[in-house]
Amino acid sequence: MASLITCPHCGVRPKEEFTIRGDASPVRPAPEAKFAAWDAYVHLRDNVRGRMAEHWQHSGGCRRWLVVERDTFTHAVHSVVDAAEFARARAAKPGRAKTSKAAPAKPAKAASKGRGKA
Ligand SMILES: [Zn+2]
Repeated sequence: MASLITCPHCGVRPKEEFTIRGDASPVRPAPEAKFAAWDAYVHLRDNVRGRMAEHWQHSGGCRRWLVVERDTFTHAVHSVVDAAEFARARAAKPGRAKTSKAAPAKPAKAASKGRGKA
């Protein structure tokens, strides 16, 4: 089954029309912020297994930047909003910048070990 993304501007489109940039949760520090804050903003990312918000560009369509909330384990897409709208909402509620990182998905079942004892 093809993965589909609902672009708020173009409608339902195949994921191959999109380019992923990565985690949408980091907030750009103030220009006068300490080195550690800039280092974390530029280099540090969580490796989330579960639901997270990511920047995706509809590069094969309207070329707008979007924030896609999806499960990195199941690839289920939960929501898609325009990145400008996401930024405005985050600026209005700065304490909720990382709400997209919900509980991790259940671990996969271990694969069968084969035909039994050797
Ligand atoms: Zn689009």
